[in-house]
Amino acid sequence: MHEKTHNSFSEEVRGDLIIVRGVYIHSATFGVSGQCDVLEFHRQDSGVTLTGREGQWMPFPVEYKRGISKSNDVDRLQLCAQAMCLEEMLCCNIDEGALFYGKTRRREHVTFTQELRDKVIAMSREMHDLYKRGYTPVVKKRKACMSCSLKDICLPELARGKSVSAYLLSNLEDEV
Ligand code: SF4
Repeated sequence: MHEKTHNSFSEEVRGDLIIVRGVYIHSATFGVSGQCDVLEFHRQDSGVTLTGREGQWMPFPVEYKRGISKSNDVDRLQLCAQAMCLEEMLCCNIDEGALFYGKTRRREHVTFTQELRDKVIAMSREMHDLYKRGYTPVVKKRKACMSCSLKDICLPELARGKSVSAYLLSNLEDEV
């Protein structure tokens, strides 16, 4: 589901709604970049102007997740970070976005509160601070790692003190 939305850039128009997939986003302020699964533009007076389109359009990011809504804020924080990137890129304010959960096939609306925004800012500062210090935080392999899109590049097993050769060996064994 995630790969389908990320595969390539595409645009679809449905009346007062424009659906764009695979948009690359970034923020120079927070030093983050990424890609939106789906970026909707809803025709709205307080929105932004888009090249080649009449009227004003309000950006509305939508992130696709495989499972169900989580009790913690990780998905909401990711979506809020996307909105903050888009605000910087498009010079606008975005109040809302949505998370779509594949298991329940439901959309959950997310309001980008100041509290959520403050957490995104604090976390991006922490991330840059860790990077500058060259410190990789120890992460614990969890059930969620199996469905995480970063699992191929995130190596929690190595961080637990396993040697590189032992890690490679166990992964090679998994492959055969
Ligand atoms: S694979 Fe890495 S980034 Fe993904 S959930 Fe596990 S520890 Fe976190």
